[in-house]
Amino acid sequence: MPSPVLDADQLDAVDPLASFRDRFALPAGVRYFDGNSLGAPARGIAERVAGVIGREWREGLIGSWEAGWLELPRRVAARLAPFLGVGAGEVAVADATSVNLFKLLGAALAARPGRRRVLAPRGNFPSDLYVARSAASLHGADLVTVPAGDLAAAVDETTAVVTLSHVDYRSGELFDLAALASAAHGRGALLLADVSHSVGAMPLRLADWSVDLAVGCGYKFLGGGPGAPAFLVVREPLQEQLISPLPGWLGHLEPFAFDEEYRPAAGVDRFLCGTPPILSLAALDAALVAWEGIDLGAVRRWAESLGDFFIALADERLAAAGVVVASPREAARRGAQVSLRHPRSSRLVAALGERGIVCDFRPPDVMRFGLHPLYVRHADVAAAVAACEELLSREGVAR
Ligand SMILES: *Cc1c(COP(=O)(O)O)cnc(C)c1O
Repeated sequence: MPSPVLDADQLDAVDPLASFRDRFALPAGVRYFDGNSLGAPARGIAERVAGVIGREWREGLIGSWEAGWLELPRRVAARLAPFLGVGAGEVAVADATSVNLFKLLGAALAARPGRRRVLAPRGNFPSDLYVARSAASLHGADLVTVPAGDLAAAVDETTAVVTLSHVDYRSGELFDLAALASAAHGRGALLLADVSHSVGAMPLRLADWSVDLAVGCGYKFLGGGPGAPAFLVVREPLQEQLISPLPGWLGHLEPFAFDEEYRPAAGVDRFLCGTPPILSLAALDAALVAWEGIDLGAVRRWAESLGDFFIALADERLAAAGVVVASPREAARRGAQVSLRHPRSSRLVAALGERGIVCDFRPPDVMRFGLHPLYVRHADVAAAVAACEELLSREGVAR
């Protein structure tokens, strides 16, 4: 049988993102498949952070809080809103994803006192499970996990919140949030989506999908930098019903009144807690500026093409060596990631790294290849598969 036509150069020749690629230049010789874990720094970020230190902090000193720092979380939230498909007034930028998840789950459980269950898929991101279990137990509730495919059917009258990662971190499976929102709402429950692995990888339409609550992180596809501030979304109709279980002064109606009683700020800003990390926020802001003009639909199509190409090549070149495709084959059900399984995945990932092909390992036997559309091309995928094939043909790695 003739092999399928798999020509990377041909696929890369028509590149709708070509004019944006130099904003995200990687070190020479590196093929980077970890942009889903830590996005690479866009041009302009270093200068922006240096400016905050040199001008705003050194020259402006404490006056810089009034001169823009206090407003920065709101400005970054407004830049982020179009990535999420919600209004600017429905996003807050603060803390880590795990902390934001705790705040929203606690608030949702408090607002649904008759319902004592949080429902999540088995295999959900572990940090999210730890947080959900703790938030549930503080409200006399339980975290119940079921296989992802059973999630919609498992929602019942005792369910307060259904929570899941939009993309499974291990397999890359992409879940249908609109269908899950409909299943949750049909039984009076809320849907809380963690979009850490989808924001910046595809257009999100959280409002159209009727997602109630969301959290996500700034340092993966968005490229906000290591430990970048995370975000949370509370849809407008819910905002006045929900109170943060971490009611810090920045989420107070009048932070500088130094009132001894907490009164929640209007809207989503009540979910702010402590002093915003200005250096990290400035880096995230500059990262989002680097996305200006980039069409998320084109980003998504490129990621789908990379994933389809990766899977076709893996079938053709790696299956005989025992490599199994662990991601959905259908592009519509897959995030910007391809996962492969092999008993020697851990050693393969290390050996690929020595050749400048950076991907990662997740136990027990998964190799993850993040397909960041702004710095991965089909030629990188072809090189990664060729390197895997060569390494698997050697005794030391294969056995
Ligand atoms: C990356 C990721 C996180 C990160 O959480 P932090 O608290 O910001 O470190 C959380 N949830 C999911 C699903 C993730 O993929």
